[in-house]
Amino acid sequence: MATFLTDVHTHSTYSPDGVSPLEEMVKTAQAKGIAFYGVSEHVNYDMLVAEQDGRIYATERHTDVDGYFHAARHLQEDYAGVMNVLVGAELGYTDDVRAQNMYKELIQKHSPDFIVNSIHTLGGIDYWSGDPYYTEGRESVRDKREVYEEYLRLVLRSVKADYDYDIIGHIGYPTRYAPYADRSMPYAEYAKEIDEVLVEIIARGKILEVNSSNDKGVSMTLPDREIMQRYFDLGGRKVSYSSDAHDTARIMDKREKVVAMLKEIGFTYLTVPCKGEHIQVEI
Ligand SMILES: [Zn+2]
Ligand SMILES: [Zn+2]
Repeated sequence: MATFLTDVHTHSTYSPDGVSPLEEMVKTAQAKGIAFYGVSEHVNYDMLVAEQDGRIYATERHTDVDGYFHAARHLQEDYAGVMNVLVGAELGYTDDVRAQNMYKELIQKHSPDFIVNSIHTLGGIDYWSGDPYYTEGRESVRDKREVYEEYLRLVLRSVKADYDYDIIGHIGYPTRYAPYADRSMPYAEYAKEIDEVLVEIIARGKILEVNSSNDKGVSMTLPDREIMQRYFDLGGRKVSYSSDAHDTARIMDKREKVVAMLKEIGFTYLTVPCKGEHIQVEI
């Protein structure tokens, strides 16, 4: 096993919220000495079907999927032998079968090198927006336990998703944005729901992401240290580091701190997914 720098969940301007162009992101990653650089542009078919139904307004553009894969595959070739550019995608999980079928089609058409399966929305509405935390009509804030348990059940269904994916992204996402005085999701209070998720990730051989893009949150990473510790105690060993960078400056953000945390817990390697293979990289 060898030591390499990795960052396997990033975005560029192909994503609706990306800031730096793909070429600049890749160039910066190489300048920072990264060996495995994963690009995972947003594919938000969860939002797309909600827009088509009129459940939400179409406020943001969607990733040009064909354009992205075309450009990224070219960059992958250009960097061959210099840096492993992994051409992936971050899929927004939803229970909606129409969106799931669209994800299956995308996977067939583009054979992504890896996929991050993430939850951003509840019924197509982003946890970022605040709406999932309120009663209909936004008269009052829903009980935190009700919202978080509902979210964790949704995460469990995303782990069981009926399409190929490699990584479960940023568990605890609502804690970044929830309108509660205490937004935390302590393991002890949600142990049953969190354990169900972790056990399923391990049983399916999936990778649990440690996401360092959580400046708006209440912990350094998503998921937080307690959940990573519990995953380790349950026998989980497959973890990926991701900056979730949307601009060049954030590539590999807090990587040293994250790796130190993982080592303290007992992890000895990171896992990098590539074309169905899970590569172990020593830390
Ligand atoms: Zn995400
Ligand atoms: Zn992301």
